[in-house]
Amino acid sequence: MKITVATKNPGKTREIRRILESLLPDVPVEVVDLTAAGGSYESPEETGSTFIENAEMKARYAWEKSGPSGGLVLGEDSGLEVDYLHGMPGVLSHRFSGPEATDEENNAALLKALEGVSWEKRTARYRCAMVLVGAGGVVGRSEGTVEGFILRAPRGTGGFGYDPLFYCPELGKAFGESSGEEKDKVSHRARALAGLVPAIRRAYQTQHDNL
Ligand code: IMP
Repeated sequence: MKITVATKNPGKTREIRRILESLLPDVPVEVVDLTAAGGSYESPEETGSTFIENAEMKARYAWEKSGPSGGLVLGEDSGLEVDYLHGMPGVLSHRFSGPEATDEENNAALLKALEGVSWEKRTARYRCAMVLVGAGGVVGRSEGTVEGFILRAPRGTGGFGYDPLFYCPELGKAFGESSGEEKDKVSHRARALAGLVPAIRRAYQTQHDNL
């Protein structure tokens, strides 16, 4: 069964594919994204004030644009909430330091915003919201979080985005220093996907019964 992730971020797609393979080893799921559509697919403006609103917007928009093509569409919106910054960058995570910001620029902006802030005040969490759309509309909604601290300097080169600055106490190291499999054990994305497993199984069963 095909699941189209409504994103052009290869980091997200890679993780979602890997996590679904381990959560649903018995269901043949093919995870694709919108990278192949290139410039012909313009992502919708993320005008929602919450991750779940944006995730639903992305899923519905991609469904309308690309059509069902025999599967499901997954809208994913995620980001980093830093307590000292009152939850910022939040839904603005990927453009924290400007509309076309690179990961490096965003990380530099985050370090600057937390300059001189003590370790115990550097608490943060990643949050991920997911909405799954099928032929009948929304078939599943889910959210996941992982708690951590913002480091004073980057560590490691794994993951993507803010991962070199995100220290995860559950793993005892930065996400940037963790393997993909380690990150998947605790990540906001893995926890959100776990909540969608029943909906994916139901959709697969329905598709199978109709063959
Ligand atoms: P979105 O495309 O609006 O959902 O942007 C999500 C942004 O949040 C990414 O570009 C990253 O900056 C950040 N982010 C979300 N999840 C992760 C993660 O697992 N690791 C690192 N950064 C993340």
